[in-house]
Amino acid sequence: MAFDYDDANIFARILRGEIPCDKVAENDHALAFRDIRPQAPVHLLVIPKGRYVSLDDFATNASDAEIVAFTRLCAQICASEGVGLAEGNGGFRAVANAGPHGVQEVPHYHLHIMGGRVMGPMLA
Ligand code: IMP
Repeated sequence: MAFDYDDANIFARILRGEIPCDKVAENDHALAFRDIRPQAPVHLLVIPKGRYVSLDDFATNASDAEIVAFTRLCAQICASEGVGLAEGNGGFRAVANAGPHGVQEVPHYHLHIMGGRVMGPMLA
């Protein structure tokens, strides 16, 4: 699969500071912010700061440091009091959409992390 990155996509614009986001946390290589159309009481998006289209692009082409930093940011926000995923019994669902079959809307890799309630069965 070709991974042609579009610098005009909305998450690239957020990373450049051209449009705001509701930031939750960041590190050198990744940024976490709240989804503008939440599908759960807590709905976060975690994105790498590098130019990766999708999960398969990121997993293939990102450096080990980028992958570790991205994963650690996910762990941090899932465990942080105040974000909304660690309260009560805690827990979350993480989803990455990719390509036409995955119905990926924004062509910059992102992981949806949702929680704040019992999520119920996965839908096709
Ligand atoms: P996808 O279908 O996996 O690409 O999901 C893209 C997600 O980005 C959707 O859940 C949108 O609600 C979310 N989204 C789009 N624009 C923005 C924004 O400007 N801020 C935060 N989330 C956004």
